[in-house]
Amino acid sequence: MAEVEEHVPLARHTTIGTGGPARWFARPESVDELHSLLGWAAARGVVVEVIGLGSNVLVHDQGVDALVLRLAGGLAAAHVEGEVLVAGGGAANAVCLHRARAAGLGGFEFASAIPGTAGGGVRMNAGAYGREWRDVLLDAIVVDADGPRTRLVADLDLSYRHSGLRPGEVVAQVRFGLEPSTEAAVKAKAAELLAQRKATQPTNKRTFGSVFKNPSSDLGAGRAIEACGLKGHRIGGALISPRHANFIENGDGATSADCLALMAEARRRVHEQFGVELEHEVQFLGPLELPT
Ligand SMILES: Cc1cc2nc3c(=O)[nH]c(=O)nc-3n(C[C@H](O)[C@H](O)[C@H](O)COP(=O)(O)OP(=O)(O)OC[C@H]3O[C@@H](n4cnc5c(N)ncnc54)[C@H](O)[C@@H]3O)c2cc1C
Repeated sequence: MAEVEEHVPLARHTTIGTGGPARWFARPESVDELHSLLGWAAARGVVVEVIGLGSNVLVHDQGVDALVLRLAGGLAAAHVEGEVLVAGGGAANAVCLHRARAAGLGGFEFASAIPGTAGGGVRMNAGAYGREWRDVLLDAIVVDADGPRTRLVADLDLSYRHSGLRPGEVVAQVRFGLEPSTEAAVKAKAAELLAQRKATQPTNKRTFGSVFKNPSSDLGAGRAIEACGLKGHRIGGALISPRHANFIENGDGATSADCLALMAEARRRVHEQFGVELEHEVQFLGPLELPT
């Protein structure tokens, strides 16, 4: 079984860079190691959490009383088989895109600027520019304390930033169905999408991506928060991005409590002005809660 470390700081495993330690932490490198760790946790009644690149999580400042897993080794690698990209759940999207491009396969460019992993993308049904995980995913190997099981995309209940994965279920491997393209075309498309993103989002700041889901296609969360005059609003070391109001930046020594307080304020003000209750997209690790 992979080594289980204790009291491992999680801030460096998240893109926002806040939060306390994991009570237990391990980096499984194979399905067998992962299964053993899940058995270890089940035998002790320990909750299991997974972290990918930590690009859509907010960790409690006091830490997380759980076994936090970060997939590594073979579970973070990717390769191509014909027109299928096979990726470990912990493989970074950038690595997946690199493999697809080198093999002249297109269809994954939309994910090039989503700074996460293949498995985190399943959990979130991540998407951008009109495409999302469910459009390219064929199936996934999902592991829980009972062992691995292959789940077809139709069985994963994927919808807008939602999946039917249950707590303690870990995506160990995915298969993406891609289409023939050329290395040059994939490179050009990815560069075009990245440029679009840089023009509208705070890509050079510490954030956790979208804070809230868009309430509807007519009302974006960012536009609603901006209309409440909250762009640049600061609490402690965190601020609502002056560039895009659905992002929170770690300006200067922010804590997760600062981020949560900003989220609560944005939610309160949007409810007052639009009568809409924003639902958070960022995932909480530890006992974090927004006031109703
Ligand atoms: C600058 C920036 C831009 C972003 N742009 C976008 C965008 O355009 N579109 C978009 O959809 N998202 C975007 N995001 C958010 C984020 O990148 C995605 O949600 C991404 O898919 C999260 O992947 P991750 O591996 O980092 O997961 P994490 O953030 O580490 O975790 C997110 C959730 O997935 C779970 N999880 C992670 N790995 C696994 C696994 N192997 N098995 C089971 N559950 C797992 C975690 O427990 C958690 O609940 C952006 C984030 C940033 C910082």
